[in-house]
Amino acid sequence: MLQISNNFLLKKFNTFNIEVTAKYFAAPQSVDELKFLLNKKEFLKVPKLIIGSGSNMLFTKDINALVIHPEIKGIELIDENYEHVIVKVAAGEVWDNFVAWSVRKGYSGVENLSLIPGRVGAAPVQNIGAYGVELKDVLYKTDALDIELLEHKTFTNQECEFAYRNSIFKNKFKGKYIITYVYFKLSKKHSFQLNYGNLKSELQKIGQINLQTVRDAVINMRRSKLPEPDELPNAGSFFKNPVVNDEKFKQLITRFPDIVYYPADNNKYKIAAAWLIDYCGLKGYRIGNVGVHKNQALVLVNYGNASGNDILNLALYIRQKVFNTFGINLEFEVNVW
Ligand code: FAD
Ligand code: NAP
Repeated sequence: MLQISNNFLLKKFNTFNIEVTAKYFAAPQSVDELKFLLNKKEFLKVPKLIIGSGSNMLFTKDINALVIHPEIKGIELIDENYEHVIVKVAAGEVWDNFVAWSVRKGYSGVENLSLIPGRVGAAPVQNIGAYGVELKDVLYKTDALDIELLEHKTFTNQECEFAYRNSIFKNKFKGKYIITYVYFKLSKKHSFQLNYGNLKSELQKIGQINLQTVRDAVINMRRSKLPEPDELPNAGSFFKNPVVNDEKFKQLITRFPDIVYYPADNNKYKIAAAWLIDYCGLKGYRIGNVGVHKNQALVLVNYGNASGNDILNLALYIRQKVFNTFGINLEFEVNVW
C-alpha cells in the first residue's frame, strides 16, 4: 500500500543535507502506484517535484508540493544480437548499481560513468557525463509518464534533445514528465574511451585494460579528488563549464594565456569553470558553514548546518566575481528549488 507522508523531512533525500520538509511525500514502487498517486483528487492541483537521490538539487525553502521519489526497481535484458544488448532499467535503480551490473555482465558503454551518485531516472535529465562519455552515447530510448495527462510517452535518443549537461527534460519539458524506464544500448565488443585526463595513466598503474579496471580507475580518480557527500555534503559541480564563441575565446586567451580550455563543436571553446573560480582566488574559500572545495573549485560544500540560502548566496558571489573578472556568466548545473 502506497504511503503518503505529510511534512516529510528531506534531509536524507538531498546530498547537500539541507533540512527542509516536503508538504507531501510518496515513494511509488510501480507505474501503477505512480498513476494511483497522480490520480488522487487531492493532488490534482498540487505542484509536483520528482526527486531521485537529490544529488543535483539545492533546496532553499520548504517544498510546498507533492514530492515524488520513484522507487520502481528492475534491470532486464530485453534484446540482444552478437554485438549489442538492449537493457531496460527502472528509474528507481541506483545509477552506480546499474554500472556495476553492466561491468559484471561484460557489457561496455557506461564504465566511465562509474560512481556518479543518483538514480537511473535522473540520468537523462542532465545527460550525465564524465571522463569523455555522456548518457546520450548509450541511451536507446526512455519511457516517461505525463504528470498531468497520465499518458505514457516513449522518447527516442534524438527526441531527448541531449546537449552538454542538458536535455528536453531540463528545458521544454521540465517538470512535465516522470521518467519511468531507461533503455540502454550496450556493447558486447569492448571499445574503451581512455583519452580523457589521467585515465590512461591511472590504468597503467593497475596494469591491464578491461571493463572492471576502467571502472576501478575511474573510481580511484573520483575518490582521490571529490568529496563523498556522506562525509562532506555537496551536489557535485555547481556550475557548468561555459562554452564561448571564437571571438570571446580570442579575447580571453589574449588576456589570460594560461586559461584552461577544450575545443567544442561549431568552432566554440569549453572553458574550465573551475579554473575561472580558482583564478578569482576562491578555491578553498570558506564563509561560515559553506565553502568551495579545496580540490575541485566547481564543488560547493556544506560544512555544517548550512541553509540552502547560504549555499545559494555563495554561488551568486562566485558568479559575480567570475563575471567581473572574465565577463562570463556561469550557469548553474544544480537545480535550485
Ligand atoms: P536529483 O538530484 O534527485 O534530481 C535531478 C533533477 O532530475 C531534478 O530536476 C529532478 O526533478 C529530476 N528528476 C529526478 N528523477 C526524475 C525522474 N524519474 N523523472 C523526471 N525527472 C527526474 N553529474 C554528472 O553529470 N557527472 C558527474 O560526474 C557527476 N558527479 C557527481 C559527483 C558528486 C559527488 C555529486 C554529489 C553529484 C555528481 N553529479 C554528476 C550530479 C548528479 O549525481 C547527477 O546529476 C545525477 O544524475 C542526479 O541524480 P539524482 O537521482 O540525485 O537526481
Ligand atoms: P578534470 O578531469 O580535472 O577536468 C576539469 C574540466 O576540464 C572538466 O570539467 C572537464 O569537462 C574538462 N576536461 C578535462 N579533460 C578534458 C578533455 N580531454 N576533453 C574535454 N574536456 C576535458 O575534472 P574532474 O573534476 O576530475 O572530474 C572528472 C570528470 O567527472 C569530468 O568529466 C567531470 O565532468 C565529471 N564530474 C562531474 C561532476 C558533476 O557534478 N557534473 C562532478 C564531479 C565530476 P567535462 O566536465 O565537460 O567533462
